[in-house]
Amino acid sequence: MDLYEYQGKELFRRFGIPTSEGRLATSADEARAAAEELGGQVVVKAQVLTGGRGKAGGIKLADTPVEAAQNAEAILGLDIRGHVVRKLWIEKASEIAKEYYLSVTFDRGEKKALFILTKEGGIDIEEVAAERPEALARLHVDPLEGFQPYQARRLIFAAGIDDPDEQKQILSIVGRLYDAFIGADAMLCEINPLIVTPEGEVKALDSKFTVDDNALYKHADIAEMRDLEAYPPEERAARGKGVTYVKLDGEVGILGNGAGLVMSTLDVIALAGGRPANFCDLGGGGDAQGVVDALEIISADPQVRSILFNIFGGITRGDEVARGILQALDQISIEEPIVVRLDGTNADEGRQLLAAAGSENLYVEPTMLDAARRAVELAAA
Ligand code: GDP
Ligand code: MN
Repeated sequence: MDLYEYQGKELFRRFGIPTSEGRLATSADEARAAAEELGGQVVVKAQVLTGGRGKAGGIKLADTPVEAAQNAEAILGLDIRGHVVRKLWIEKASEIAKEYYLSVTFDRGEKKALFILTKEGGIDIEEVAAERPEALARLHVDPLEGFQPYQARRLIFAAGIDDPDEQKQILSIVGRLYDAFIGADAMLCEINPLIVTPEGEVKALDSKFTVDDNALYKHADIAEMRDLEAYPPEERAARGKGVTYVKLDGEVGILGNGAGLVMSTLDVIALAGGRPANFCDLGGGGDAQGVVDALEIISADPQVRSILFNIFGGITRGDEVARGILQALDQISIEEPIVVRLDGTNADEGRQLLAAAGSENLYVEPTMLDAARRAVELAAA
């Protein structure tokens, strides 16, 4: 789960990483009031779950509360790479002498946490990595040994940070960032830029914070930070019904049992020249209610032109799934043609049941590739 900048900064503060004071605002009026409370120059920042907001016009300095309200007016509703701005973070403006970059993430190859520190912050880290890879200092942390301050010293020297006052502050921030990373079960904690003010104070001016979904049960306070409105309506409905669904942008709706099978179904649709409209995993079961829930969510997407139902009967038997599909089609009316591929345990019985139902909207195909071709053909019809 990705956190907004203001949420990530709240976690930073809890772990003792310095940030600037700020307020959340959802209207120009609130932005003006926030700027009045904070006093002096403020920065009005779009809160969206994507980076590069500065370049997209989503970050503006304001000298007065009136100007903050004007900036808010301009930024609210802005579309930043598909993310519409509905929330703003109004922060006391900082003076910037230097912009560094600090992050900690997982290096899956090494099975260790990896810190990256560079003096060339403020811009995309990918850009620095491509053009001046030698400017990046890296540090792996052994999970058994844990984080040791001497390692952070090595990281800071490797990055070429030679001011003793900066070294001291960054040393403490690196340790606290590691605490935040472990303490919140994060996948990524990134500070870009980590600034040095003209007075020599080091602080986090931005935050990118991703928490492992599978660990949210341990962190009720972070789980609550999820902003349901930031998800497509189909995904919101799916979450409510406990269906595993991810919206994609093609025309063929996909439904299967088992994440691996659904992933291969997406590939086979691409192989057949089509584009999947979604990922949807029924899980182990194939009971009628599960099928109804999934079909409702898939068919609510106006882009869907056909639906491919790909089932491999293992523990779930093919005839049960076939009954589930038929019961589901009795309960809801689906306009799009549905192609079914059934294989595995009791597949013959299942196919016979579907054929016997004689529904003209239902196409039963013998193999996954045949089914994919048929679904793509029907989507184009
Ligand atoms: P991003 O573009 O989404 O990464 O958003 P950031 O929060 O990193 O802000 C982008 C840029 O805006 C920063 O690199 C700064 O140059 C500038 N900026 C952000 N906050 C301030 C501030 O308080 N004062 C000044 N002078 N510039 C700021
Ligand atoms: Mn940034």
